[in-house]
Amino acid sequence: MTYQNGNGNKRNHSGNSTRAVHVGTSRRKAHNSLTTPIIQSATYTFENTADLIDFMESKTWGDGAHGREEYGRYGNPTVMAVEDRLAELEGAEDAALYSSGMAAITTLLLTVLKSGQHIVMTDDVYRRTRQFCTTILGKFGIETSVVAVGDYDALEAAVEKGRTRFIISETPTNPYLRVADLERLVKIAKKNRCLTMIDTTFATPINLRPLEWGIDFVIHSATKYLGGHNDVMAGVICGNAARIKALKDARGVYGNVLDPHAAFLIERGIKTLGLRVKQQNKTAYQVAKYLEAHPKIDRVYYPGLASHPDHEIATKQMTGFGGVVSFEVAGDLQTTGDFIDRMQIPYIAPSLGGVESLIEQPALMSFYEKTTQERLELGINDNLVRFAIGIEDVDDIIDDLEQALAGIPERALSDIWEIRFRL
Ligand SMILES: *Cc1c(COP(=O)(O)O)cnc(C)c1O
Repeated sequence: MTYQNGNGNKRNHSGNSTRAVHVGTSRRKAHNSLTTPIIQSATYTFENTADLIDFMESKTWGDGAHGREEYGRYGNPTVMAVEDRLAELEGAEDAALYSSGMAAITTLLLTVLKSGQHIVMTDDVYRRTRQFCTTILGKFGIETSVVAVGDYDALEAAVEKGRTRFIISETPTNPYLRVADLERLVKIAKKNRCLTMIDTTFATPINLRPLEWGIDFVIHSATKYLGGHNDVMAGVICGNAARIKALKDARGVYGNVLDPHAAFLIERGIKTLGLRVKQQNKTAYQVAKYLEAHPKIDRVYYPGLASHPDHEIATKQMTGFGGVVSFEVAGDLQTTGDFIDRMQIPYIAPSLGGVESLIEQPALMSFYEKTTQERLELGINDNLVRFAIGIEDVDDIIDDLEQALAGIPERALSDIWEIRFRL
């Protein structure tokens, strides 16, 4: 860690937690406040006409760094301070915050793409991202091809030089925690002159920094780990300075800015990101190991386990495997719901990445309107559980799983044979 007294902005800490607490913002803040003040103002005043003209001149003809704000939709000092810190954490030149993860994703795609262009996307990206591309962008003449995650030959075949503008993927994915091979992805993109966007909401910059692997845009639902307390919604895009500037300009037009109070909560969350994620990585790994050895569990999906299809690439790329563990219990839709109901620590809720553990049965949450057969075709089994681990003590979590699993009835011999046959 290097430290330069007297210049609040020239600090270069190397540890993730030091960076999460200190980097990005000026050490000297308004009114000697230790924390970043919440500038709760919709507009900003000019002292007189000469002051206004000075600002307009620097904005119109200057280098773009006007040194002050004009109107709330175009920028806010609290939001900017948090953007600086997020950029530092991702190793990006700049970052732009939005009112939700989806606001970040839709703004990025609407800003960069134009009619006639084409997107290639892996098949288990966030459902709403996929919905946005295939339905809304489709209406504007932007086509999307969806390829199976992990099939890089199919990905390369789907890319059309000159037409494909974007390759979109996610890592690790929901709910099977597939991990994208960023080196291969970037190689295909560079060869075909297209841009890459990776949603690393599940990884956080503590576990993976895709820009270091050559990815163009990293996006997060900051609602999850970055905020970390299930109490605020936000989204962020990280990338190079020129592109982020264009995205901030677009935000001023779309109007999907982040509220300064929400930005304050994100910054407050980021300060403990390193602690939380390290704990969640550790607990999730222990839980995954425990579940894998349990007779009432059919299968566990966790990239930290050697049994996961992407274990090797996850080990190479990531510094932690994350806090989400998915698994299939030995039972059907009803047995699985009953098991979840017996769990006492996690709440039943969508989302992930907060201090509270959350549990859900995807068949009844994201895929409720589908039949068992339709879900099977989408690769979602009725007995699948997604467990987003919080910061509770690992022993308590494992005790809770133990008692809830004990309630699952012993399986009839015929069921066991049926499962073996299926595998
Ligand atoms: C939650 C989530 C989103 C959407 O973010 P919001 O903040 O809910 O808009 C996008 N991608 C992933 C992977 C998510 O988990």
